[in-house]
Amino acid sequence: MNEALAIPDMIVAGGTLLTSDPNRPYIQEGWVIIDNGRIESIQDKKPARIHPATKVIDAKGFVITPGFVNVHTHAILSMVRGVAEDMGFAPAYTIGVPHGHDPNPEEAYAMAQLGGLEALLFGSTIINDTFTHQNIALPAMAETGIRAWGCGRIHDVDFTRVHLGEWTYNTKIGEQTLREASDLIEENHDPISLLTGVVLAPHAPDTCSPDLLRQVRNMRDDKGLRINTHVSQSQVEVDFIRERDKMSPPELLEDVGLLDDRLIGAHCIHVSKTDIERLGRAGAHLAHIAKGNQTHGQVAPTSALRRAGMNLALSTDNMHADMVELMRWALASGRLQDGKITNDWQPANVFEAATIGGARALGLEDEVGSLTVGKRADLVMFDFRRPHLRPLTNVLGTLVHTGQGRDVDTVIVEGEVVVSGGEPLRVDKSAVLEAAETAAAELWRRARSEELAFSKS
Ligand SMILES: [Zn+2]
Repeated sequence: MNEALAIPDMIVAGGTLLTSDPNRPYIQEGWVIIDNGRIESIQDKKPARIHPATKVIDAKGFVITPGFVNVHTHAILSMVRGVAEDMGFAPAYTIGVPHGHDPNPEEAYAMAQLGGLEALLFGSTIINDTFTHQNIALPAMAETGIRAWGCGRIHDVDFTRVHLGEWTYNTKIGEQTLREASDLIEENHDPISLLTGVVLAPHAPDTCSPDLLRQVRNMRDDKGLRINTHVSQSQVEVDFIRERDKMSPPELLEDVGLLDDRLIGAHCIHVSKTDIERLGRAGAHLAHIAKGNQTHGQVAPTSALRRAGMNLALSTDNMHADMVELMRWALASGRLQDGKITNDWQPANVFEAATIGGARALGLEDEVGSLTVGKRADLVMFDFRRPHLRPLTNVLGTLVHTGQGRDVDTVIVEGEVVVSGGEPLRVDKSAVLEAAETAAAELWRRARSEELAFSKS
């Protein structure tokens, strides 16, 4: 803002606001005044005077929400879209599909950008992404305008053997992945701009030795970071940890000092009553893969986990990054567990999980996750001038039950419009699609020839 003249950079004018701020969750007609990348004020009347230098976005007929926070993604895994959804198990554990060690840097860049762009166009303004090549993926995603946080997967299992059913640990691999995480922190952890950042990502209890998990804990404490890991994703993992460590995965995480309110646990499907209590007591955050898990015929006991004390956050895992659709899956699966409609599973609960709940998981709740004065100006404008989004009797209920990510018209990150009219402004969409198509075709060609070679051996 020009201090002398007090001219704000931007006004999002006259939209209906769903703020995710408990103090003022709904504003029927609001003017969001944005300056210097932050929300300067939210007014319920048109400002008396608007300076011609201020950019005004007419939001009449639009619903404004905070940007969504997707706490657990693997953008590069968009390479298995349309196939992994119908496989028996996660791609890393399956033969004949492209794996994390397969993409070359160019392919990683292309797939990461596709995943990042998809998430942004659907209204996510920050994602927490883990996979290989994250030194390439985070900047590639950030180029689209999204805040790209994440980490390369840290493990000491030999991932080139896991899909063959072999868990072999190698300290050199552990050292290498830790070194990559350390380099990523140096190059991409930016707690000032928040455009890119690091959340340490030990892959899973079974792909990390207890000793490596302790090293990750030390790095977390040294650097003041959070942890994102898969927890009790499969019965295979639970049985394996029981055999190897004589514990359950949450017990192991507690034993190595990782289970506390700095932990984001993805999945948490195969958990016992004691595990649920343990996770809740720790105040850990649940990355609920609502759609992905149910597509695979499974569901995390989200009702019990929330009651035990876990913070609910939402995530798409292997992309299809529509957080609106995800809210619906989370709502339905919660109600299925309870067998009825209760106050615990209402549109407000899943909207909170998709916004401020995710921000809490990342430790960024003072900066993003709600439309609150002083926070970063990360906003999404949904075009509600559409038959499936009328009437406006209950805007939040309508958004959650019939809205879609593709109803997003405009996305603003740090006060900059990065999507307008449903199209990205920072990158060439056609070029992103074309590069991803070429990369995926080549990755699948190599994966299939590997499978053929394996079946002949
Ligand atoms: Zn995952």
